[in-house]
Amino acid sequence: MTEIIQLQLLNGKIINVTVKRKKIRNIYLKILPDTSVEVSASLRTDFNEISKFLAGHKKWIEKTILKFKDNDTIADNICHGGVAAILGTKYIVFVYKSNVDKVINDGFTICIYSKKYQDNDYIKKQYEKYFYETALKYFEIILDKYYPEIQKYNIIKPVLKAKVLKSKWGSCVPKDKKITLNLLLYKTRPECIEYVVLHELTHLLFIGHSKQFYDFIQKIMPNYKAIEKMLDYEYSNILLNN
Ligand SMILES: [Zn+2]
Repeated sequence: MTEIIQLQLLNGKIINVTVKRKKIRNIYLKILPDTSVEVSASLRTDFNEISKFLAGHKKWIEKTILKFKDNDTIADNICHGGVAAILGTKYIVFVYKSNVDKVINDGFTICIYSKKYQDNDYIKKQYEKYFYETALKYFEIILDKYYPEIQKYNIIKPVLKAKVLKSKWGSCVPKDKKITLNLLLYKTRPECIEYVVLHELTHLLFIGHSKQFYDFIQKIMPNYKAIEKMLDYEYSNILLNN
């Protein structure tokens, strides 16, 4: 007999947990590689007890699901037939022999044309350069989109930098009028980039994360909390892994 328990995770997602009845004493929890969740319990353990057990393991369930997803969705694998993520989309990577080095994302695939198409390190460097240049261009466009919101307050346009940051999506040094974005933000969805840019821009007006700080953001981006959650849950492994 198979029972199903619906469990709402801390990130708001509702998942179905399959309950398997076995001749065992304890309750066991298992996440399968396809991220489905299974709980085993004895024939006599009642439903409420299992539900309670699951509720106490929400954090672990979320973390483990992320770990599984992580393996194939976040880590780029730059080689022929590999995958790479840009703006929240995963693309298959193709590597071709060419006289000219060039990287093209046609919206379906990422094609790396290379003079040294058999040299993996060379191809990775080629892709890293492409990733950096296209990311920076994209970030600049988003900065230009939101800068007018603070320009009104006579704030000069900040200098934008992009580099891999260890544990944050962006930073702002108001006195230097400098914003640094985590280069890996370019792997996340466009709305995430928009939020981080707006967040850092808002630091030019407000120091710290005060109520006024978030009120200002909310006026411009009413759904900012959902985007923060997305960064925390869906993309936190980008930060953890780099
Ligand atoms: Zn901040």
